[in-house]
Amino acid sequence: MSGIVQGVGFRPHVHQLATRLSLAGFVRNQLGQVEIEVEGDSAALDEFARCLVSQAPDLASIETLRSGPLPLRREPGFSIEASTHEGAAEVFIPPDAATCSACLAELFDPSDRRHRYPFINCTRCGPRLTIIKAVPYDRACTTMAGFPLCAPCRAEYEDPRDRRFHAQPVACPACGPRLSLRGAGGEERDAGDPLSGAVSVLRDGGIVAIKGLGGYHLACDATREDVVRELRRRKGRPSKPFAVMVADAAAARELCHLTGEARASLEGPARPITLLPSRPGSPVAPSVAPESAWLGVMLPYTPLHHLLLRDLGARPLVMTSGNRSDEPIAFDDAVALRQLRGVADLFLTHDRPIHLRCDDSVVRPLARGPVALRRARGYAPAPVRLAEPLARPTLAVGGQLKCTIAVGSGRSAFVSHHLGDLEYFEAYRAFTAAVAHYERLYRIAPERIVHDLHPDYASTLYALERAAGGGVELLAVQHHHAHVASCLADSGWSGPVIGVAFDGTGFAPDGTVWGGELLVGTAASVTRAAHLRAVPLPGGEQAIREPWRMAASHLADAGEDPAPLSSRIGPERRPLLDAIAGRRLRAPLTSSAGRLFDAVAFIAGGPASVSFEAQAALWLESLAAPGGEGEDEPYEFELAQQMEHGAPVLVIDTRPLIRGAWADARRGREARVIARRFHATLARAVAATCARLSAGGGPRDVALSGGVFCNAVLLEAVERLLRDAGLRAHAHRRVPANDGGLSLGQLAVAAARDRKGGA
Ligand code: ZN
Ligand code: ZN
Ligand code: FE
Repeated sequence: MSGIVQGVGFRPHVHQLATRLSLAGFVRNQLGQVEIEVEGDSAALDEFARCLVSQAPDLASIETLRSGPLPLRREPGFSIEASTHEGAAEVFIPPDAATCSACLAELFDPSDRRHRYPFINCTRCGPRLTIIKAVPYDRACTTMAGFPLCAPCRAEYEDPRDRRFHAQPVACPACGPRLSLRGAGGEERDAGDPLSGAVSVLRDGGIVAIKGLGGYHLACDATREDVVRELRRRKGRPSKPFAVMVADAAAARELCHLTGEARASLEGPARPITLLPSRPGSPVAPSVAPESAWLGVMLPYTPLHHLLLRDLGARPLVMTSGNRSDEPIAFDDAVALRQLRGVADLFLTHDRPIHLRCDDSVVRPLARGPVALRRARGYAPAPVRLAEPLARPTLAVGGQLKCTIAVGSGRSAFVSHHLGDLEYFEAYRAFTAAVAHYERLYRIAPERIVHDLHPDYASTLYALERAAGGGVELLAVQHHHAHVASCLADSGWSGPVIGVAFDGTGFAPDGTVWGGELLVGTAASVTRAAHLRAVPLPGGEQAIREPWRMAASHLADAGEDPAPLSSRIGPERRPLLDAIAGRRLRAPLTSSAGRLFDAVAFIAGGPASVSFEAQAALWLESLAAPGGEGEDEPYEFELAQQMEHGAPVLVIDTRPLIRGAWADARRGREARVIARRFHATLARAVAATCARLSAGGGPRDVALSGGVFCNAVLLEAVERLLRDAGLRAHAHRRVPANDGGLSLGQLAVAAARDRKGGA
């Protein structure tokens, strides 16, 4: 059998099961697969087959299971045999897992030899992906290699009946990693118990850098406004929300509304940051997630976190990536000490090296289950099954922002953890390191590299450079096509489909900037069937940082005079506003849905400039978040048929919508009302366009992808309207709708082309 069956306590499970049923035989690991031979009574064999899967450990995930009869060998008993390393079977690397309940009980048991040991773990929990340097997954190939086991740990490690049998990171206070403290300047502090040192600094309003599983966090008291502001100032992050860690689900409920779905997400072994609706009057300081209706909450996932939160008492902690601004999370000790000097007052660190940087995952619990917004610790690198097999080993390099890469062979796609925005040099380094690491771990030597059509993405340049060396072919996939293919691969539907790809920006073959597209086809190929009306994008990249520019552009396009905006943008921007109003500015055209959000956000009273991607859109979504009252009346929109490049295309005319929002704003209607009416309009426009395409002979299935569909208010409204129209919606679950999902989509396109016998 294959799947996630190594490093998760699978062999002890098999051994216990076989022994209980008095079966003879053996179990062994063979390069990612588990091989089992059992002989005995036929009823017992049936029972064995049933319990093998149904009682498998939580972290195990069985992909394939093959069985057949063998000649009797009359073995004396059941044994666990040594791993064999020959053969070229598929390799599966387990994700990191939160401390399990059995380990937690020992952690707080004064009579246990690991009482309050911050690195306690077992076959069912602990670090995995972040400590693995090479395969096979054995201790010698992890960053635990430098910690020889003491006699009691070795006995547990070697005993097939023990829950630490072959738990590669197993350790205890006598033989394992240790905590240490360093001061603000990086100097070693040799003052008693490091944990209580960190706790007292946190209690006094200090900022502590804490080494976790995949990197350093910056932590501080989340209830103190002055402290959170100071963290923002030092980190250089003015407004992007921080995540908060609380002791348990009950503590989370004091800060946020908690559904059953949300609780399952919070408490699952992946322990992601879960976006929850904030409770009014919660003790969390306003600066933690300014102007957001949601708070990102996570529960402790390492023994160190459990100890910290318990010792701090019921106090929520800000736990944000240890970095400056939006750089990748620091994970190397020396680099962290250098980068976070001047940010942290204290470093709570340890001597277990992190081999692979890995951020916290972010999910949003929807009624139909949790949806990934950032896929990293706890989820990566669990494989995704492709609908079609890849004809040759393939690497997909993703996009530019929120980049992930993916390696694929056969029907397996291994999507990397979130790597970050490649405009940062550190993130680009993480990108090249991840490519090398995943190729090595999965023994995939790519014969083909798939990349975005954008010529300036760092990932595209990497692909071109590597192909220039010879031996690999290239496949360029248009950005929104990759989004749609990603959604298909994620939801397991192979098409044909109407793919709605709404995002900020994507390079298109026609010289305009796409981002509000309806593409019809399959993973192999799509044609553009509809799009949002294209308007000028004044100042390219600058327009993304200054939403007022899109507001002015959309107003001018709709025949309105944007002059009244001038009082909200500062006098120095007035000449540019006049130029946009008079349509005297040379600018590319864009059909971007993200930029439409920017425009409406500013019209509704949102910020003139933003400090992080999609800030204006998040502001608008927060305002539109469900708040009791009935549905808001949508604005008008129109669908117009027109010919483009010799083919008929539907255009969603946004001008009536813009005029409606502008009239509301000028009448002084609340931003909340405009936000809700806008969401209702866009949802209707999408559903109506899909219905029209479907009625005209198009598919009845719709895939919703692109970063705009991380917006839960829009996503759920569109899903509802599509259902009402008799269409079937497919949306993302495991892989984000944003550019973090591109690499999977790129692999899916390559695989679909292989089947068609194409490139
Ligand atoms: Zn455990
Ligand atoms: Zn030990
Ligand atoms: Fe995108």
